[in-house]
Amino acid sequence: MDYRNEASENLRNKCAACFRQFNRMEHLVEHMRISYHSVHEPMCGVCKKHCRSFESLREHLIGPLPKQECRNAFSIRGCKFCLTILDSPNARRVHQERCQLSSVSTGQLMARLSNLSLRDNLTMDNGYTRGPQVVALACKMVGGGSDGSLDLCGRVCLIDENENIIFHAFVKPLLPVTNYRYEITGIRPEYLRDAMPIRQVQKRIQDFLCNGEPMWKIRPRGGRARILVGHGLDHDLDRLQVEYPAVMIRDTAKYPPLMKTSRLSNSLRCLTQTYLGYDIQTGIQDPYDDCVATMRLYMRMRSQQHPKEEYPLASDPQNRHNFAAWRQNELERMNPEEMLAISRSDYYCWCLDS
Ligand SMILES: [Zn+2]
Ligand SMILES: [Zn+2]
Ligand SMILES: [Zn+2]
Ligand SMILES: [Zn+2]
Repeated sequence: MDYRNEASENLRNKCAACFRQFNRMEHLVEHMRISYHSVHEPMCGVCKKHCRSFESLREHLIGPLPKQECRNAFSIRGCKFCLTILDSPNARRVHQERCQLSSVSTGQLMARLSNLSLRDNLTMDNGYTRGPQVVALACKMVGGGSDGSLDLCGRVCLIDENENIIFHAFVKPLLPVTNYRYEITGIRPEYLRDAMPIRQVQKRIQDFLCNGEPMWKIRPRGGRARILVGHGLDHDLDRLQVEYPAVMIRDTAKYPPLMKTSRLSNSLRCLTQTYLGYDIQTGIQDPYDDCVATMRLYMRMRSQQHPKEEYPLASDPQNRHNFAAWRQNELERMNPEEMLAISRSDYYCWCLDS
């Protein structure tokens, strides 16, 4: 094999998504089999490289060893929040002003006004089909147990897509509170004394989420049950003793594009700062602010413009044979683009909700 052939051979074995190069075609096939590249991955607007997360895309654009061409374009035309590359510096300025959000001052005011009075619109609509289809939930925990380290839900908030409060209440736990964690929660003993008991809160939130649908019947699409947005929802739901099927949950701590490359979950504070451009959780924390931040992150991820596919997930039965072992020879004859075209995502991209 002469030099030129070898060079084109190497080019042939370059992954069309992440640009990794392989000495042999069979190794590229193996790479494609386990990497689940798809149109849903964050992508560089300049060189079209796919990244596993926005974190690694940011690294590609402005990390310690960026690709020069991409960094140059990004530094003049790139949005530092959503990492999109715009057409001109002026377009970037206009875009970035809309992309950066500010904290919810009116909401905070409303939430503060409702500090002691319960806001409860959970049963506003009796017709089950009406009302918001996507809701965000957040809790603030007080401490129980002898050392005060046991998390007990002391306050809960639920909002709709338009950041309106559906439910905002102090919660009276079953166990005695031994640490009110006032510096974070702002909760005083008298706020909980006559608050709604946890059992009642649990039942009402449960009913509101299911929206008349029996739990076993809940399907990802076409049902009445609501999509639930939040950050670290496992813990919140556990503390509220609410059960909800995973297919209806959109957790900003577990969504792969928003995760650190180390696969450790990001704090909501850090995500809000990085992707929305403002600060939360400074001083006393209101669960309303957390609800708004998670809902905004969800909406931003949901509005990603990705090509539509009939069967977008690797787990869809229609895609089961795409990279099957018996197709090895056939796959090795494909070019990298063709292989990428049949590759599907191993996570549910939130653009599929829109
Ligand atoms: Zn790849
Ligand atoms: Zn998508
Ligand atoms: Zn690039
Ligand atoms: Zn942007």
